[in-house]
Amino acid sequence: MSENTNNAFLKVEDLVVEYFTDDNVVHAVNGVSLHLDRGKTLGLVGETGAGKTTIAKSILRILPDVGARITQGNITLDNQDLLKLPEHEMREIRGNKISMIFQDPMTALNPVERVGDQIAEVIRLHNNISHEECEKRAKEMLAMVGITEDRYTEYPHQFSGGMKQRIVIAIALACNPQVLLADEPTTALDVTIQAQVLDLIRDLRNQFNTAMLLITHDMGVVAQVCDDVAVIYAGSIVEYGTKEQIFHHPTHPYTIGLFGAIPSMSEDEEWLHPIEGLPPDPSDLPQGCPFNPRCPYATEECRKAAIPVFKTADGHDCRCCHIDQVKKEG
Ligand code: SF4
Repeated sequence: MSENTNNAFLKVEDLVVEYFTDDNVVHAVNGVSLHLDRGKTLGLVGETGAGKTTIAKSILRILPDVGARITQGNITLDNQDLLKLPEHEMREIRGNKISMIFQDPMTALNPVERVGDQIAEVIRLHNNISHEECEKRAKEMLAMVGITEDRYTEYPHQFSGGMKQRIVIAIALACNPQVLLADEPTTALDVTIQAQVLDLIRDLRNQFNTAMLLITHDMGVVAQVCDDVAVIYAGSIVEYGTKEQIFHHPTHPYTIGLFGAIPSMSEDEEWLHPIEGLPPDPSDLPQGCPFNPRCPYATEECRKAAIPVFKTADGHDCRCCHIDQVKKEG
């Protein structure tokens, strides 16, 4: 899905990821394609369980050893096929060329190690430099995320939630990664700290020309940080376009539903308008369009077979067979 991928720095093509249990197969990611460009941010938006984190973990190849399998697709970084690399070469890429910011800083940091040492450790792992130089660079990273170097020797519990997330960002950026995967990086933070952390991520991306995948369920976060947006539902990308296309001309009924569920600042409304129903069980997806049980536009055609991608404008793709009707009534 989406075009103009020839010069993309990181490409995911037709990715399928499944989790195997004793009784069934969980179809977590179903033919996802997306691309990241240097200095740009792609927002991957969808509800919990839509497959967002599984895509990021597939890129880094850190899916669980038991039960999870990439059964189809390609992932290339600067034309290098990541899925074919031996594990020792992949270890060189993780934390160095591709980094990930995890959602919860409490579980991402080691509680019994000094925060400065946790940053220095990543630098030491990927650079053949002295202990002193690693420590110096770690202090520079702390300063870059707004933490004074005298706090190098403190432990995670001595920092607030927002400060801990800054340390996680410093670790992720310590080796100037070319690609940054940020998985709900501000979900655990209050709105003021969230704004500061988003500003920080944006500044650092601009400074290092990093290609970034921002995973979120929050359209407000997308509006602040992203250039392009991919909307994911039940493991499939249902709409893909620039931020302006998605925000000003949403075309897929699910995307329209997501916007409808956001409270309006200008209108006095008593009730929110959530999307009716629940996401489908990924081990038992509905036939045809997976959104059909919740979609107000669904017809027999939607329930028959997989829905192809339609282009609604240059760079704006939508996986829906009733686009014209949705545009007229949506
Ligand atoms: Fe709704 Fe049909 Fe479009 Fe799916 S394909 S979003 S069910 S109208």
